[in-house]
Amino acid sequence: MSNKKHLGHQARKRFGQNFLNDDYIINKIVTSIAPSNKHTMVEIGPGLGALTEPVCEQIHKLHVVELDRDLVERLESHPVLQNKLSIHQGDALKFDFSQLIEANKKMRIFGNLPYNISTPLMFHLFNFVEHIDSMYFMLQREVVLRLCAGPNHKNYGRLSVMAQYYCQAVPVLEVPPESFVPPPKVESAIVCLTPYKEHPFPCDHIETLQQVTTRAFHMRRKTLRNNFKGMLSDEDYQQLNIDPTWRAEQISVQHYVAIANYIYRKKNI
Ligand code: SAM
Repeated sequence: MSNKKHLGHQARKRFGQNFLNDDYIINKIVTSIAPSNKHTMVEIGPGLGALTEPVCEQIHKLHVVELDRDLVERLESHPVLQNKLSIHQGDALKFDFSQLIEANKKMRIFGNLPYNISTPLMFHLFNFVEHIDSMYFMLQREVVLRLCAGPNHKNYGRLSVMAQYYCQAVPVLEVPPESFVPPPKVESAIVCLTPYKEHPFPCDHIETLQQVTTRAFHMRRKTLRNNFKGMLSDEDYQQLNIDPTWRAEQISVQHYVAIANYIYRKKNI
């Protein structure tokens, strides 16, 4: 049998299909997710059901968003799962997660994500954070390191700042390529993202924060004074209590929010 064929399904590279095939790892992931009927449970990319099946053993209902029509057909006729699944065929990047909101429940979202869509998908999900209790995602290990990194670390960048603005990010588990069929070319890891119920540092205008972080990390070795030339004067830095000789990687999330709010308020005076 081809190592790309799993349970009779030919893995499609364009859909980032690397199926989990390691009971020990699957068990650990499901334990971390802690499936619960108190939450609206949502899986992105259920595939052949490696996580879907054990999760459904513990809950009454699971929403799944799957792009591959063949896999959707299999799930629809799955003898055990079909009564518990609410299947949404389509692209998770375009999916309106607000249609899943239930009264007095928040969403717990999980998935072994196709690596090519993982970052845009997280940014898409940040639009719905106030309705999300927690997210558990399998990602490229490198992306997990970036999500969880703090200032003064080589992995700290725009993704760290934006994710940590919305969520607490904690690495959960490393997963080797051998745990998948076919094995991916990169190491993987699980991250847990828990949205803040109240932002520790509220931002007035999220687009400004995005612009500020893009600009700062575009040339991460340059000083803030250089990166924000024409936008912030030495007097502004004094007001902000920020040293203009610092570099992008030395600035905390709190500082980035302060810079974004300062620029936004100055523009709107
Ligand atoms: N959950 C399964 C597992 O762990 O074995 C499959 C994981 S596989 C890495 C990624 C899954 O996401 C595949 O089932 C793939 O078809 C699906 N997928 C790919 N792109 C998608 C998208 N844009 N929206 C929703 N699902 C997608």
